[in-house]
Amino acid sequence: MHKPTYEFLFGAFAFVIGAAVGSFLNVCIYRWPVDLSINRPRRSFCPNCKQPIPWQQNLPLISWIVLRGRCANCGAKISFRYFAVELVTALLFLAIWESFPWQVAIAYWVFVSFLIIGTFIDFEHFIIPDRVTIGGVIAGVAFSVAVPALMGTDSRLAAGVRSFLAAALGYVILWIVLEAGKIAFGRKRIRFEAPTPFTWAKRDDDADFVVGTEESLWSDYFAREKDRLLLICEEVRIDHQTYGNVTLDFRYDRVTAEGHVTMLDDVTHISGVARELVIPREAMGRGDLKFLAAIGAFLGWRAVLFSLFAGSLLGSIVGLITLVVGMDLIWRLAQLPGCFLARFSCGGTERCLVRNRLLPTLIRIPTPAHRLLYSCWLFENARVGVCAD
Ligand SMILES: [Zn+2]
Repeated sequence: MHKPTYEFLFGAFAFVIGAAVGSFLNVCIYRWPVDLSINRPRRSFCPNCKQPIPWQQNLPLISWIVLRGRCANCGAKISFRYFAVELVTALLFLAIWESFPWQVAIAYWVFVSFLIIGTFIDFEHFIIPDRVTIGGVIAGVAFSVAVPALMGTDSRLAAGVRSFLAAALGYVILWIVLEAGKIAFGRKRIRFEAPTPFTWAKRDDDADFVVGTEESLWSDYFAREKDRLLLICEEVRIDHQTYGNVTLDFRYDRVTAEGHVTMLDDVTHISGVARELVIPREAMGRGDLKFLAAIGAFLGWRAVLFSLFAGSLLGSIVGLITLVVGMDLIWRLAQLPGCFLARFSCGGTERCLVRNRLLPTLIRIPTPAHRLLYSCWLFENARVGVCAD
């Protein structure tokens, strides 16, 4: 066979593997955050009718197009995400295959798989499971030992050490940014001039939260699961329980008072007098720190800096444009916490692809979409202070 034919076949093979892996990543994205096993049920099922999907309707990319994004059994819409994940994975696998020697390419395949899972889970759930972040760090160090070229050396020991140090750098540098953010923007702590009465009253799935004359919906305060709202009170009544001088520590669905946790589902009315309110403004979670660590473990310390600075530069540009033009849509997009993650992923992906050679033409296709996603970071940092732990 001619050499070009060979190369074409290998490329096509990488693309097909990518699509198949993308199909598996979809399963992880769907099941990991809700703690479903990825082995059981073994076969994919329709999220709507729970009907197992036969293999011929589960071909990566093809099935989604043939069935026009609908379940063959119940006709429910199947999210475009499934198709997008398979396509992005396939394109990235191909681009990586074209750019690197095969050992390195395989390591990078694993790397972008972690990035894709993390990014899509964060978009939907505002969390990054440890399986992605810590798993990514472990995989990154292991691959660096197995393929020292990842860290630009011949020595396995040196590669392992470099990989580990780069992971630590990723974690620490972002931790510093986070702490600096707290100092620069202050905690969103509101001290009332005089003790102020408040009430919390359940209404349907939500609750009315009234402090002094300020009325708001409970759900407005919480963007993500780990958000906390603190209310420092002189006195409090939770249904029939009363407390004096207590700090109420709220999550979206529960409240802790003097070490005692009550689910808000079981509460109908909370009232009292407050001195101070601390609003949840956690822009970045610990997951982001660990995530940047994973990028470092696979790509080295330069990639950590690259991801951080490329993200912040683009983020500031978009932030400025938004402020000047006042585009509501971009503003909202910029507020998606998922952007944090996406920007690192893209920083990481680009770094991984740019590293030795020019980007193949192919990769230019997903890149603009990537950029848009991750271009928000400084902006979001600047937008909010960070609530104290
Ligand atoms: Zn169905």
